[in-house]
Amino acid sequence: MTEQHYPLHWKKKNFSIKIFCSIPNIATGILLTAGDSHFVIDPGDGILRDLNKEIGVKKLLDISDVFVTHGHHDHVGGVWSLLTYLRVMQKKSPLTIHYPDGCVEIESIYNAFKKVYSRSITYKINLKTIKKTIGFTTNNITVKPFPVIHKEYLSTGKTRQVPAYGYNFVFNGMTICYGGDTAYCEEIVVHARNADLAILEAGHDKETPDDMHMTMKEAVSIGKSAKKYFLVHVPE
Ligand SMILES: [Zn+2]
Ligand SMILES: [Zn+2]
Repeated sequence: MTEQHYPLHWKKKNFSIKIFCSIPNIATGILLTAGDSHFVIDPGDGILRDLNKEIGVKKLLDISDVFVTHGHHDHVGGVWSLLTYLRVMQKKSPLTIHYPDGCVEIESIYNAFKKVYSRSITYKINLKTIKKTIGFTTNNITVKPFPVIHKEYLSTGKTRQVPAYGYNFVFNGMTICYGGDTAYCEEIVVHARNADLAILEAGHDKETPDDMHMTMKEAVSIGKSAKKYFLVHVPE
């Protein structure tokens, strides 16, 4: 098994991405930089500490968009502290959170935040649900969401599909593909192909494929179709 040494960093011209960490069931945290703009992807626990250290308060306050792949706690655990911190530090510019339609975790956190701090929120929060594979441009990057297969266990022992999307981020002709948590599926295969960087999870610790995470073998096979790839979410 490949050992991961976080942070993982990729940069090409003025497009870069830093994965502070990506450990299944613990936390994920990613900073995307396109030109002068910063974006956050999957703000898991610890994101505030990592962002503060990386870009400092001033740039943190300028962050315009957050992209969430799905609502599992290891991908959204830092949202509450991020929203609260931005309020305490008096953020003025709006913040848009992009998340899969049906992701109740984001809506619950947002509703609780609005309720608790109704009289002291200094910035506007836009919630934008991803419903389909329709590309859009925000700030200076183009975003192409794609649905992925990612299931979770119910208390009955059965499984259900989680609202989950991966994203391709395009800037100045360069593409970064991030699948989030996903089993092996056609969508991730297609979107990772020829990407300048593909960030692929290899969260399944057994050889037999399942419908929650990819095996190391599956992730590597997709990674080879991209110009470069990182394997993340590898169980420690
Ligand atoms: Zn995860
Ligand atoms: Zn997950």
